[in-house]
Amino acid sequence: MMKKYFILIFIISTLFAGFRGNPDDKYTGVDRIKSENLLKTVTYLASPELQGRLGGSEGFYKAADYMANEFKALGLKPIGGNGYFQEFSIEYNDITGPCGFAKVNGDGSLKSYRLGNDYVCRGFTGSGKLSADVVFAGYGFFYPDKNFDEYKDIDVNGKIVMMFKQTPGWKLGEEGWNQSLRYRAGIAYSKGAVGIIFVSKPNDANPQKPIGSTMDGEGEQLENFPMIHADLPVAGEILTKSGKELKSLQTEIDNTKSPKSFATNQNVKIEVTAKYDKARKTMNTAGLLEGTDPVLKNEYLIIGAHLDHVGGQAGEIYFPGANDNASGSASVLEMARTFVNSGIKPKRSIIFILFSNEESGLNGAKYYAEHPLVPVEQTAAMFNNDCVGHGDSIQIGNGNSAPQLWQITRSLDSMYTKSMIMRTWNGGGADAEPFHKKGIPCLYFVTSFSYTHLHLMSDKPETLNPDIFEKICKLGYMSAYEVAMGNYKRENVIK
Ligand SMILES: [Zn+2]
Repeated sequence: MMKKYFILIFIISTLFAGFRGNPDDKYTGVDRIKSENLLKTVTYLASPELQGRLGGSEGFYKAADYMANEFKALGLKPIGGNGYFQEFSIEYNDITGPCGFAKVNGDGSLKSYRLGNDYVCRGFTGSGKLSADVVFAGYGFFYPDKNFDEYKDIDVNGKIVMMFKQTPGWKLGEEGWNQSLRYRAGIAYSKGAVGIIFVSKPNDANPQKPIGSTMDGEGEQLENFPMIHADLPVAGEILTKSGKELKSLQTEIDNTKSPKSFATNQNVKIEVTAKYDKARKTMNTAGLLEGTDPVLKNEYLIIGAHLDHVGGQAGEIYFPGANDNASGSASVLEMARTFVNSGIKPKRSIIFILFSNEESGLNGAKYYAEHPLVPVEQTAAMFNNDCVGHGDSIQIGNGNSAPQLWQITRSLDSMYTKSMIMRTWNGGGADAEPFHKKGIPCLYFVTSFSYTHLHLMSDKPETLNPDIFEKICKLGYMSAYEVAMGNYKRENVIK
């Protein structure tokens, strides 16, 4: 073909592709990606049968089995060590119930609160059935040397401590706050407290609802120390008798940087039943699609998502985690299906992986980074998919640390999906972080405004936006295609 005609055809076809928005000619199979299929996977993963996929639970094992069977059906190679499973053990707490929480009225009658709506149990709560008075202790910090000892003027022995769950927006000198709830629980426990009621900071722009959460920090489990997170109106009721009010308490503490702790003289009843296991078996689920280029097949693209969520409580409620992160898991599966069912012969090899225990501190991704299934130096890139189904636009994180990789996705979006916002970040983020720290260029696929139902019982499939869900999966697929075909050279990551 003569060169000038070639150039002309190239320009026309580029424009054509751009205007038509039809990427399937170049990215074979991308049109197979359909929101119906994504939602079908999400609906199963978020179903009551799986009970919120707490890492190490029966529901999580079912989710992992399901994904492994799908990988097998696609002919992906099992590379986990035990088939598709890369097994490891984690700290595990099953809130089996019964659980209850009530305020004791002046006449001795009870005002009972509803699990899931008025309060939730903290992920690593201990067990106990008790009746005790509540003492308010601000943020629950103990820094006597810095003149910020919130236990100084109160006696919490045999009492239940109420404290803000989030740390202050200000600092004591240069030092930040220890973010671990387990750390502050340890302080309360050492002072003789018998339980904790966490409440969200009322003056935050959107005070957090009682959420399911297994993020607790390092340390010893307090097995006989119940901990709940109460909704603000409930906490307000507990303070009624004292005549104090949470908003002004927070304002006073923050303004004066001094403790405002006091006894509420309000009696409450708390019952929590949980089973703790220090080393419970769980697993990442991984399948390999081998590359076909004799050289590039020894390089790998990792496409991952966390499969776990925060489980259920007392057999009464569970957190479906449709967006977080059944959506990302479904997207990984759909990309695997699309590569295989379209007969794509990638030059590089692709690992599809679903992590366990993101929710308790990125444990699955960290385990992989410390026990990589393929050499880290030969890992060309890693894509993390976390919360990709709710919201109205696409955000690609870690672009400041892997700008060349980010630019590939950005130009694909400007040609085809046209939904990406430019805001990005550095340092990986969530499950991408352990990979980033190993020097692997990462992209973090997430939808904007994704967190409306974060860790709430309302994170259900019907709250997802099928259109943006399909688009971000397509964008991930096309980006993966470029990397898999060798059109990206691993860059040095920027910290
Ligand atoms: Zn989460």
